[in-house]
Amino acid sequence: MRKQFALIWCDTCGRVTRGARPGTDWRRQLLVCAATAGLWLLVWLVIALRNRARPYTCRYCGSTGRAIERPNRESALVILGLVALAVVLALLLWLAIRHPL
Ligand SMILES: [Zn+2]
Repeated sequence: MRKQFALIWCDTCGRVTRGARPGTDWRRQLLVCAATAGLWLLVWLVIALRNRARPYTCRYCGSTGRAIERPNRESALVILGLVALAVVLALLLWLAIRHPL
C-alpha cells in the first residue's frame, strides 16, 4: 500500500518525528477506473477521502500525531480531479436522461 509522509508532532515521543498514513495509489485507481468505464470513480473518491481523514502515526512509537507541515499536494489534486470527473459524469448522465436516443 502506498504511504503518505509528513512531519508530525508526537506527544508520546515529545518531539517532531516523521509520520505516515495510508495514501491513495492514483495510478492503480486510474487503471481500475478505466477498466470499469468510470464506475470505479465513486469508490476512488471514498478511498481518497477516507485516507485523507486518517491521522499520521509516529514512525518510532506508533502514536498518532498531527502534521506540522502541509501534506503533499498530490492528494488534493487527485480529489480535485475526481470532483471534476464526477461533475462531467453527472452532466453526461443528465444529458442522457434529457435527450434519450
Ligand atoms: Zn512517537
